Amino acid sequence: MRFPKSIQNLIDQFVQFPSIGPKTAERFVFYLLGKDPSAVENLADALKALHKGAILCSRCLAFAETSPCAICSDSKRDSSIIAVIADTRALIPIESTGDYKGLYFVLGGEINPIDGIGPERLAIKQLLDRISEGTAKEIIIALNPTIEGESTALYLAKAIRSLQISVLKISRIARGLPMGADIEYADEATLGNAMKYRNEL
Ligand SMILES: [Zn+2]
Repeated sequence: MRFPKSIQNLIDQFVQFPSIGPKTAERFVFYLLGKDPSAVENLADALKALHKGAILCSRCLAFAETSPCAICSDSKRDSSIIAVIADTRALIPIESTGDYKGLYFVLGGEINPIDGIGPERLAIKQLLDRISEGTAKEIIIALNPTIEGESTALYLAKAIRSLQISVLKISRIARGLPMGADIEYADEATLGNAMKYRNEL
């Protein structure tokens, strides 16, 4: 006995999601089957609109509604500081602290040899180009406090130093974030402290 094709197709889609196994995927599909068709239509509309409504900002490479994004085009932000983050999700909690007034740069991940993510898969060249423009005086490396985040930070620090811009300070957020934690799950107070007490690299 097999599920009707439309059910199996959707299960196959959900199984590709991070940390979703076949049983959970089945649960999602049967949850949707139990819903009113109009509710399922709303979900389908949201899925279709996803890419149209979220484009990459040409300056910071964050997903945003416009390019350049609201932060990059805000003249009140301090363009002498750039926080380097792994992906757009880290931007939301840092912005929620209300303490950070600089700009961002999204690296697109962290170096992870096990998953086959080498430095060439990240936007390191774009970051170095951006720093070479000369407006940045400090680069805050705000990556996850994990082995991947640490090794990426060291790699970046070396690459940035090789630009030989003498006025440039390179710092790394540190205090408050536990080892192994994900930056997007950190509470605002902890993350606010980590930004404030960053260390020079
Ligand atoms: Zn931007």
